[in-house]
Amino acid sequence: MDERELANHVLEIVDQTAYRISARRILAVHLAVGGRRVFDLNRLRDTFRKCALGTVAEGAALFVKVLPVRHRCQGCGNNFEAFNRECPCPECGHPHTEMIGGEELRVLDMELDDDAA
Ligand SMILES: [Zn+2]
Repeated sequence: MDERELANHVLEIVDQTAYRISARRILAVHLAVGGRRVFDLNRLRDTFRKCALGTVAEGAALFVKVLPVRHRCQGCGNNFEAFNRECPCPECGHPHTEMIGGEELRVLDMELDDDAA
């Protein structure tokens, strides 16, 4: 999923939510993205801004929170969270850990323009 797909996916969620709560204008979108997804934040913001033209989210600010990825150690079975893709187990130092999930994409919050509602 590249920045364009990501932006379109977010806009889809925002659009549906706005419709459900009868919001006419969105001022900001707070997004949580799994740490396993690789994207360029500036490019995502730029693409989002362009894709949002003419929608409820036109001009909305995009805030992105990157979530840590859960790892499972193949040596001792320890579970831990990290922001790096490759990182040794903090318990036993085993270099091979398996990533669990990390592909989340969630809209945490949206700020609405109450005046336009
Ligand atoms: Zn370990």
